[in-house]
Amino acid sequence: MRLSKIFTKTSKDIAKEEVSRNAQLLIKAGLIDKLMSGVYSFLPLGYIVLKKIENIIREEMNKIDALELLLPALHPKEIWQVTGRWQYEEMFKLQNRKKQEFSLGWTHEEIIVPLVKKFANSYKDFPLAVYQIQTKFRDELRAKSGLLRGVEFIMKDLYSFHIDERDLDKYYERVKRAYFKIFQRCGLAKLTYLTLATGGTFSKYSHEFQTITDAGEDIIYICHQCDLAINKEIIAKEHFVCPECSNKNLEIKKSIEVGNIFKLKDKFTKPFNFFVKDSNDKDLPVIMGCYGIGLGRLLGTIVEIHNDDKGIIWPLEVAPFKVYLISVDTDKSNVRIMTEKLYERLLKQNIEVLYDDRQHKTIGEKLFDADLLGLPYRLIVSAKTLSKNAVELKLRRSKAIKLVSFSQVEKFLKS
Ligand code: ATP
Ligand code: MG
Repeated sequence: MRLSKIFTKTSKDIAKEEVSRNAQLLIKAGLIDKLMSGVYSFLPLGYIVLKKIENIIREEMNKIDALELLLPALHPKEIWQVTGRWQYEEMFKLQNRKKQEFSLGWTHEEIIVPLVKKFANSYKDFPLAVYQIQTKFRDELRAKSGLLRGVEFIMKDLYSFHIDERDLDKYYERVKRAYFKIFQRCGLAKLTYLTLATGGTFSKYSHEFQTITDAGEDIIYICHQCDLAINKEIIAKEHFVCPECSNKNLEIKKSIEVGNIFKLKDKFTKPFNFFVKDSNDKDLPVIMGCYGIGLGRLLGTIVEIHNDDKGIIWPLEVAPFKVYLISVDTDKSNVRIMTEKLYERLLKQNIEVLYDDRQHKTIGEKLFDADLLGLPYRLIVSAKTLSKNAVELKLRRSKAIKLVSFSQVEKFLKS
């Protein structure tokens, strides 16, 4: 893509009212825009990143045989009364002109359970798993961490249905592995811990995926022997030792909950009377698991972890583009022509390239934006590099600069 075609701009200064690093950097780089507290627009470059994260999640969900669907965000009051959650304090409520009451979806158990019940009425229909990637609304009191805590935010929520507890346990483990794969592909592998947390309805604990950073609101106790963490909420109950191996040497860290998985058993299927007949015509209770990941929170976490004083440093798989291409000496027509040629060549090889072809920007401004936007590779074409039949290559992550032969750039980038 040509940068001259993108209407959004980077800014020199940091948005004053933002206190979180992720929002400061993403706004400065022109990737998101704040509408109000906890509500952000994704601008074209930011939306590319969001889509990449979405695709990683979608690929990993499909690999565990989950089917994608899309549920409504507007819900009737009655369905929330079935489970007694109409009173939930973070739920937004609204009325139509006939004074009927509705809510905006903050989670979707009450919607998915009666839906699946309509179709899955034999033991032969199980197990099954469905997920969606959709906007949620929550009346969050503390929405000042940028994308980490939205009032409107995008979540992937997966629901699995089983008639056998062992089968739920097995699927739960598959989801765990899929989650680690997702966080690894998003560049968070080393810092993300499976964490014991409260909220398991019938199992002792639920599991969170916590990524270590000082920007986090949570506190976890890490057991390096088990490669497991325990949320502060429950460590006192465990007498400050690891419940798996009794290790007392736990490391205390601040962290962000990027994902959360629960065995719900029949908590939501029971109120909806969701039973199916087994082969002897006996009623079997349907049991469930639910599994969430916040996409915006994940994006914000990536930025909190991968940045320096100059800007963002995108992990390869989620970068909006792989390459930032600049030509210096644009007053010299051969440099301009050669840069255009290189740009076309990279496109032909399906290398994602952002070409800074802006006419009225100085090289200083372009280098500033290249660092701020944080694409993994920066290529510079100049009269000097061309005199050596080469281009200059720099990784955003390192200081080293390297000359690569002009004819070998694609090959080099692909390796
Ligand atoms: P928290 O304890 O941080 O409020 P939660 O327990 O309410 O999170 P869940 O209801 O389990 O979160 O939601 C599943 C996932 O959705 C979370 O793990 C997180 O990644 C994301 N998420 C939850 N609330 C928000 C929010 N306000 N903004 C952005 N993402 C969120
Ligand atoms: Mg919450």
